[in-house]
Amino acid sequence: MEFFALDLETTGLDPRKDEILEIAWVRFLEGKPRERFQTLVRVAFLPKEVEGLTGISPERLRRAPPLSEVLPGVLGRLAGKVVVAHNAPFDRAFLQHAAARLGLELPEIHWVDTLAISRAIWPERESHALPALREVLGLEAREAHRALPDAEATGYLFLEELAAFPYLPEPTRAFILRGVPLPARELLAAGRKEGGREKTVLEEVFSLLSRKIPGFQLRKAQLGYAAWVERALREGGVYLLEAGPGTGKTYGYLVPLLLAPEGRAVISTRTKALQDQLWHRDLPALREALRADVRVALLKGFDNYLCPWALEREGGLFSGSLRKRIQECLSEVENPEVGELYKILGFDPETRVLVERIRARPHRCLGRECPFLSRCPPRRARRSAQEAEIVVVNHSLLVADFLAEGGILGEYEVLIADEAHSLPKAFEEGLTRSISPADVAALLEEIEAMLPPQAVPRRELRGVWAELRRLRERLHALLPDEPAPYSRREGLRFLSAAQELIWRLVALKGALEEGLSALEGEEKGMASGEIAALENLVSEMEYVLAAEGEEVFWSEKDPDIRFYATPLEFGDRLAADFWGRIRAAILTSATLSVGGRVDFLVRELGLGNAIHRVFPAQEKERRGRVFLLEFFPGPNEGGYVSALAQLLLELRERFRRKIMVLFTSRKMLRAVRERLPQEGMISQLDWSDAAQAVEAFRAMDAPAILLGLDSLWEGVDFPGEELEILLVARLPFPNPADPLIKAKEERLRAQGLDPF
Ligand code: SF4
Repeated sequence: MEFFALDLETTGLDPRKDEILEIAWVRFLEGKPRERFQTLVRVAFLPKEVEGLTGISPERLRRAPPLSEVLPGVLGRLAGKVVVAHNAPFDRAFLQHAAARLGLELPEIHWVDTLAISRAIWPERESHALPALREVLGLEAREAHRALPDAEATGYLFLEELAAFPYLPEPTRAFILRGVPLPARELLAAGRKEGGREKTVLEEVFSLLSRKIPGFQLRKAQLGYAAWVERALREGGVYLLEAGPGTGKTYGYLVPLLLAPEGRAVISTRTKALQDQLWHRDLPALREALRADVRVALLKGFDNYLCPWALEREGGLFSGSLRKRIQECLSEVENPEVGELYKILGFDPETRVLVERIRARPHRCLGRECPFLSRCPPRRARRSAQEAEIVVVNHSLLVADFLAEGGILGEYEVLIADEAHSLPKAFEEGLTRSISPADVAALLEEIEAMLPPQAVPRRELRGVWAELRRLRERLHALLPDEPAPYSRREGLRFLSAAQELIWRLVALKGALEEGLSALEGEEKGMASGEIAALENLVSEMEYVLAAEGEEVFWSEKDPDIRFYATPLEFGDRLAADFWGRIRAAILTSATLSVGGRVDFLVRELGLGNAIHRVFPAQEKERRGRVFLLEFFPGPNEGGYVSALAQLLLELRERFRRKIMVLFTSRKMLRAVRERLPQEGMISQLDWSDAAQAVEAFRAMDAPAILLGLDSLWEGVDFPGEELEILLVARLPFPNPADPLIKAKEERLRAQGLDPF
């Protein structure tokens, strides 16, 4: 496969009067640049703006050969060849006029315009100018507006277009073919030869899967996507792969990863629900179909697991049958999921109260002193994750590992972040420090319930409880109803209001320390854990309330009083300490760009050079129907909540299917919930973990209703009859009054950027 990539620099835009001042071509053979030619051309006059744009000085041009010496050789070399140029009509017109002026005949050249093809393939891109495309392609930023680097970039762009071509919808392919000469059509039809072998393997694998996995269909877009994942794994770098609905991105990244693992890999999902879906459905099906002998592991945060030592202590809390079930689960030591609390205890709301007592917590873990160390579920899960070649985690755990400097997951070379549009939020949340009276109450309850009675300093504890109640009332009066930022001065007011509580917490800690010498073994370990937790609580309170740092400090009252310190910028930190450790990072989601650009994501995450690819939504996959209820009252109108509840009841009675309603506000969700019968209905508000609410809803028979909040807006898959009717109570636009949104808008304005 041979073609020439050509670029001309000119003194202006009019081929009838302006002159060519630089010519370059690069000959590509079998997907690689093999031969390069570049020359300056002496011109009569060099406009100042062109000198500034190209950096070519009049002195250099004076020493250059005239066009009459250069052009015959160039035309001779290009004669009969496929010549690609970015905005080819421009270059062709200049060559035509220049040849005519010199009395030369223009030979037959098979022109291909990479600009026109780029517009057809990637209509969503905001800019198709060569510098912008060079950035998207991940090509080195060399001198722009110089003929040789531009010719080479054009050649690479054409290779990308060849690679994308086989996976385009038929009408787009026909449109492109109509615009290119016959020899170039053959190139397009053949695809990019250098990638041919790998694509063939992928094609074979995907067609094998379509025979082996029931319901799996071979999709061209998925093949194109998988080819990019394969390239990312092989070549390394940061890739932003934006795959519209129906592309099949999960198999698209799992297949290349399982076929040829290029170093230890971490797959991170936004939610635990998606993590479970990968682990239980997609990975096992593919591993079996491909007979992939790769060690894989699932890992969640420490407190998702059961602590057998706590169970031993609190065993009396559980009924005989439940206790038996727990023991049976724990005896399956080979199963890496053993110990995941909600899987053991199910979704009975009554058992959820007990769960907190037997949940593994880092601060109350005995570590090496623990008699259950070898059978400890969170430690076992972590060990098997560290030994696995592919680990499935969620974004929160990924961020926790970053904060623990890799102490949780160990080193890895490849990261695939699914639902990657939510990574900035995950890092923002992970780096946020927060404190609430509820945290203090939870720790006090834990001290009362878990320490031996003689080790509990009753008087100090009563003092903390009393002061906590007083502070809660005071804060209720002080804080605005809606989330709001607070200044350093206001922070000092909060800190002074909380000072008495802090002193009492310190006194409680002192009393616990005094009693430590009377304790032994596990009891001593437990009390030490509570002392450390108290110390941490006090330091978080002092930091978050004082509002001294660079973060945005803000508070909220609903669902509970809570103070936050949220960093606005962390891209530089990630660039320095996170991405550098990863050889190949694939960030994928249905939506990564805004207006075809990924600057926002790149800046937020500190990604540096990233290659962006878009795989458009597959038309035939859009099987649902959308109804806009214009007759309905608006969400801000009085009758909206009642009308919504009534509509839900009618839909349920009439269709007897499973229905999910997505809310943007807890208040509205609560109001609707109050108007519905409890039977056959799940509210996410009643579950501490959205994944549990999802599982409970899955387990219900139709008709059933799930009332969900923001964590169910994306990343949850309810195939087929698991969910058939979706109601959107209000579109999830960010609330402009949100203190974080406001602070981000101000920051962008200060940087001269438009927040919209
Ligand atoms: S090692 Fe820690 S988490 Fe594990 S069983 Fe023991 S105390 Fe519980």
